[in-house]
Amino acid sequence: MAMSGSGSETSGDITGGAVRGPGAIPAQGLEPAAQAADLLPNLLEQGLRRLAITFVTHGGAVLAKGVPVQRLVQVARAGVGFSPVSDAFGATGAIDPLQSLARPDGDLRLVPDLSSLRALDLTSGWAWAAGERRGLDGQPYALDQRSFCRRWQQTLSHQGLETLAGFEIEWMVGRTSPDGAWRPAVPGGPYGADRLVEGLDYLAALAEALDGASLDWLQLHPEYGAGQFELSLAPATPLEAADRLVAARLLIQRVSERFGWRCSFSPLVSPELVGNGGHLHLSLQRQGRHLLGGGPGVAGLTREGEALVAGLLQELPALLPLACALGVSYRRLAPGRWAAPFQVWGVENREAALRLIPASAAGEPAHLELKVSDLSANPYLLLGAVMAVVEASLQTPRPLPAPVSGDPGRKDGGTAPRLPLDLAAATAAFEASALLRQALGERLHSTVAEARHAEIRRCEGMEDQALIASTCCWPVVG
Ligand code: GLU
Ligand code: MG
Repeated sequence: MAMSGSGSETSGDITGGAVRGPGAIPAQGLEPAAQAADLLPNLLEQGLRRLAITFVTHGGAVLAKGVPVQRLVQVARAGVGFSPVSDAFGATGAIDPLQSLARPDGDLRLVPDLSSLRALDLTSGWAWAAGERRGLDGQPYALDQRSFCRRWQQTLSHQGLETLAGFEIEWMVGRTSPDGAWRPAVPGGPYGADRLVEGLDYLAALAEALDGASLDWLQLHPEYGAGQFELSLAPATPLEAADRLVAARLLIQRVSERFGWRCSFSPLVSPELVGNGGHLHLSLQRQGRHLLGGGPGVAGLTREGEALVAGLLQELPALLPLACALGVSYRRLAPGRWAAPFQVWGVENREAALRLIPASAAGEPAHLELKVSDLSANPYLLLGAVMAVVEASLQTPRPLPAPVSGDPGRKDGGTAPRLPLDLAAATAAFEASALLRQALGERLHSTVAEARHAEIRRCEGMEDQALIASTCCWPVVG
């Protein structure tokens, strides 16, 4: 149940009540401090005593600061300190000194966006909010990923385009044995009802946590790999979709930990298993008209729909370091794992990096799935960049190649083009993209590239086995 900022609408139900539903922003229009003052009594009434404020680094890790909820007014106004060096943290937490952000000085303020506030764990009294970083002067920080996503969402909206997005989260639950090998925690076959039943208490606890946080979800079930599960989050604005991904990941981690298991969002946990994807679903409308269906073009695309698919397809290699940020991401991207490593699009084709899903009889609009992405992506950077590519594609339309049906690895007369085979090749494409350089701004673009180079250096010379093991429980290290 959603909770508003006014006392009369408090759910009063600490175990089942959520802090607030997405989009329900009762204190809208008020200054953050006034919003916070408005919210505080309800938070306390629900037993929420602490607030975790998070942001996602260039490298895709979620970092947090915790504050007493009693300080909400002050924190909403001025934020909490966070060092800019955090965007130089690598996949295992180490700071590669060659990055320009790897310096001990400077500070920023991480300010919670109260519209994202929700319960993280009602039992232990923790709430959660997404934060944005500002300079000490209160001005937006040029490298802040969530502000970047917000700007592009606004840009598209000013051009009459409404974007909806939703992530699918795949993860594995397991334990690491003394020899360091990964052992699945829940038995059962691919998509198996047996795994559903074996893990029923776990999935029920997770569903309860999601509902408690007002995190709308569409599907929750076993995936193909051993000990693997999948959660599909309901579509929302890009900012909200990225927030939901962050919050959902934390809830999955929390519930897994309660069951005594490790959960891994690593793109590849073991060389023998399939990978974990973090697929991004997108739909766009102009004045209520869907761009990806009901049109005169191929597969029912509108002319604008064709242009945006063509533009995304063209820019995919450059987008890849934002969609797949770890060295091990590229070990997942092998043909035959449904990780979609080909630079093609197709209708309902699970090996195409861009999969068009036509409108369903049940009324779900046609949408596009960026199937290649994994959970090392910073969702704010990825969505912001995708929106920038959409905008450029509509400004300068290019012809759309034919869709690929069947296995792109066995196309008539050869194989379809592969996406970059490693992080170094993908980073080179990212660095060469004038479009992304302009969309991100020089400094955000170059520091993200620096972070990818640090990851490339970390992985240098590692055999597959060692590389996979080094991020086996990602993002948990140690
Ligand atoms: N696990 C696959 C991946 O790595 C995706 C499977 C599917 O949902 O089609 O992306
Ligand atoms: Mg899946």
